[in-house]
Amino acid sequence: MDLKQHIRSVPDFPKAGILFYDITTLLRDPMGFKTTIDSMSTPYLDQGIDVVIGIESRGFILGGAVAQRIGAGFIPIRKPGKLPAKAIKESYDLEYGKDALEIHEDAIEKGQRVLIVDDVLATGGTAAAASQLVKTLGGELHGLAFLIELLFLKGSAKLQGENVYSVLKY
Ligand code: AMP
Repeated sequence: MDLKQHIRSVPDFPKAGILFYDITTLLRDPMGFKTTIDSMSTPYLDQGIDVVIGIESRGFILGGAVAQRIGAGFIPIRKPGKLPAKAIKESYDLEYGKDALEIHEDAIEKGQRVLIVDDVLATGGTAAAASQLVKTLGGELHGLAFLIELLFLKGSAKLQGENVYSVLKY
């Protein structure tokens, strides 16, 4: 199945000059959703991953399904002010703006093997901030999995030394 055919690209969203990769058109298709999760999960089936982290918000959809498929738990990393209990924060630059991410301070046990999941690797700022949060809490970062990598933005350069996997490259 050609996943790229089901992804809609929207010019100038959320602002001028950004070509936004909209995965809602892929996920609404039953085979599209299944193939997406199969592709993202297969490399991690027997890697002893304890927990999958999904980055708000599309990372929740993909990360939750990947966690379930590989037999791992799920932990959300969220935008500031959304998590109910005590959290730690990491700020970062986005392709279109500046933001911060938070994780519950007791979410990860020291030494747990962690996989980070998100829909798009763009400049890498989001993923680098998530990686930092995992390490601050003492997690062992096994790798990061993305559905889409935007090669021209060189996000993987911000993740040097990490095990980065992306299903589709643009
Ligand atoms: P970055 O920190 O630049 O790697 O941006 C990654 C985050 O922004 C991901 O959570 C994506 O969901 C979102 N994102 C960035 N650029 C795009 C894009 N062109 N299309 C869709 N989502 C994007």
